Amino acid sequence: MYIGVDIGGMSIKAGIVSEDGKILTKCAVPTPCNDEDAFCRAMLECIKKAMDEANIGIDEIKSIGVGSPSAVEREEGILLEAENIGYKRIYARDFLQKSLGDIPVFVDNDANCAALGEYYKSKKSPHFIFITLGTGIGGGVILDGKLFLGSNGAAGELGHIVTRAGGRECNCGRRGCWEKYGSMTGLIETATERRDEMKSLGKNDEITGKLIFDLSEKGDDGAKKIVSDWIEEVAIGVVDMINIFQPDEIVIGGAVSAQGDVILLPLIDYAKKHAFCADEIGIPEISMSKIGGDAGIIGAAFLHKNN
Ligand SMILES: [Zn+2]
Repeated sequence: MYIGVDIGGMSIKAGIVSEDGKILTKCAVPTPCNDEDAFCRAMLECIKKAMDEANIGIDEIKSIGVGSPSAVEREEGILLEAENIGYKRIYARDFLQKSLGDIPVFVDNDANCAALGEYYKSKKSPHFIFITLGTGIGGGVILDGKLFLGSNGAAGELGHIVTRAGGRECNCGRRGCWEKYGSMTGLIETATERRDEMKSLGKNDEITGKLIFDLSEKGDDGAKKIVSDWIEEVAIGVVDMINIFQPDEIVIGGAVSAQGDVILLPLIDYAKKHAFCADEIGIPEISMSKIGGDAGIIGAAFLHKNN
């Protein structure tokens, strides 16, 4: 059995994961912010709680994996600066080995962990891409069955390809990044700019992703058009991924997975029309995430397979 730890801004989650990727037990504790010692203690407490609930000891655990919303130093097992949590440098491997014994500990960023989790729960086609549409666009690229990390470990920043030259300013310093248009935040920003088009929107309604999808489903023509334009923004980036990597499978995750075919069918349609030589070579299988929020725990638990 393995332990996967998924660190988020609100909570730290830990799960005991079996060899075949099933979560036996999982626990969550609130994430202490701006206090590295308290953060480490909370992470340990969460792991111990998960082990207690599964009624297993550390000798039954083969490795621990930790997914951090930050860059990491994989060789040393260090989590680097996570702005939203306020830690700068967490020596996760040293700390967990000191606290739990001499057990292998692996670290990676949370997007890579989620991609690995989705990959191990999918058909495990060797070339696989996971794209998550949330506040931004993240994900990971798996080539020949391994996470593609690039020369320096920083590869796979899918959201920062530019799909609209000169467009909205991105916090990476460029303009028109894919995530400024294709993420949920991008959708909300577009809908806010085009508020007047949604005739059934109340004057004081706060625009959320869910509200836009609800209005569209209820037949508001303005909302429908905003959603279909947004799906095209997503599809443009997806087709770029297909043209560069020609993966076997693409899985889309994030809050939007709940929308299912509403997003998936037009997305596949667009890819069939626009991916390079799609008529001759076809397009990859594209589907929605089926494991959602658990992908980060499962992927972290399986980091040993990628090391
Ligand atoms: Zn960017």
